[in-house]
Amino acid sequence: MKAVIVGAGPAGLAAAACLKSKGITPVILDRADCVASSWRNHYDCLHLHTARGRSTLPGLSYPKGVGRYPSRDDVIAYMQAYTTHHGLTPQLGCAVERITPHGDGWQITHSGGVETADIVVVATGVNGTPRQPDWPGQFTGPILHSSDYKTPAPFAGQRVLVVGFGNSGGDIALDLARAGVDVTMSVRGPVNILPKQLFGIPITSFGLLTKMLGYKLADILTAPVLRFAVGRPESYGLRSMSKGPAALVHEDDRIPLIDVGTLGAIKEGRIAVKPGIAQMNGSELRFSDGTSAPFDAIIAAIGYTVDLRPLLGPDCAALDPTGRPLASGAPTPERGLYFCSFKVSPDGQLFSTSQEAIAIAAHAATLTRKAA
Ligand SMILES: Cc1cc2nc3c(=O)[nH]c(=O)nc-3n(C[C@H](O)[C@H](O)[C@H](O)COP(=O)(O)OP(=O)(O)OC[C@H]3O[C@@H](n4cnc5c(N)ncnc54)[C@H](O)[C@@H]3O)c2cc1C
Repeated sequence: MKAVIVGAGPAGLAAAACLKSKGITPVILDRADCVASSWRNHYDCLHLHTARGRSTLPGLSYPKGVGRYPSRDDVIAYMQAYTTHHGLTPQLGCAVERITPHGDGWQITHSGGVETADIVVVATGVNGTPRQPDWPGQFTGPILHSSDYKTPAPFAGQRVLVVGFGNSGGDIALDLARAGVDVTMSVRGPVNILPKQLFGIPITSFGLLTKMLGYKLADILTAPVLRFAVGRPESYGLRSMSKGPAALVHEDDRIPLIDVGTLGAIKEGRIAVKPGIAQMNGSELRFSDGTSAPFDAIIAAIGYTVDLRPLLGPDCAALDPTGRPLASGAPTPERGLYFCSFKVSPDGQLFSTSQEAIAIAAHAATLTRKAA
């Protein structure tokens, strides 16, 4: 049996290693010229928000000496080592253009040719297509997506607005503030904030509570402790979300901000807070509370969109009407077609990627047995 895995990021590498361990031959295709290409493009200051032990892929730990929260470079080195450790040989520079049913299996058309396979795992990630801002008016300065931010250096002496209160927005605003840049965060809606650790334990370890108690009860029980640990968002000029962090993940597929110091910088006045942008007019930005201020640059930390219809076709039964997979890390309505790491997880994305890769390989092996 042969499997084609689209993507040589963490999910593709994990899926390939797990399939290989079941005796299925993995062929990994990636349009980039290296493995873990998304990590090589992330901002320089990035450290995992999830602890090392819950950020590994199946079958390999981080080497000794790596800190509790690995740096971007540690992650890249780990992914490279993972590839070698499992004897994976991705075909790089192969952009997959189309995946279509072919007999009992699949045909994969890519920039280097055509492959056929019994199994396909789509592991193209949820961070491939930056969401585009739609603020009314014209801004004279640059508007960057957070995926284009690397270091604070180009913003020295500037007034920068970081839009969005997710983990990238929080990291980038803090990075700029630490470099002495005049930085403001634009936060449109109510927020949900978690500390990085509680009682010295990484916050993602508490995902277990959700599994044991259900997300609603977990939110009720943890609310007083979280309020003690991070305070009330109102004291930072922010608004509290009516639902708890576990409900945010389970009901809205969104991850709360894991605070790595952004709140402290807001409290100390090193990061200012404004509501959503109402209108852009030259360098002047008007906000929804009626206030205005001039800015030199905007960094839009507003997330990404996923639409796999161009790859799989509009009628693929494994996609919802917007082109998102109906199931991730589980069988789909299309036999032999899987998606890895498209589900938001309260346990940490890399942790759940590993679980999904193991589950995909286990299910694919049952197809193998039926076929034999
Ligand atoms: C800034 C940031 C910080 C994060 N921090 C954490 C953290 O602390 N802990 C955690 O657990 N998770 C974290 N994540 C989430 C997640 O773990 C990473 O995004 C992870 O890289 C996802 O892996 P992936 O393999 O699904 O996708 P990606 O790493 O994006 O890999 C997808 C691959 O698919 C390739 N590809 C896409 N389309 C095609 C195509 N048509 N043909 C061929 N190849 C294609 C791309 O080139 C890429 O190499 C973070 C994410 C971001 C953006």
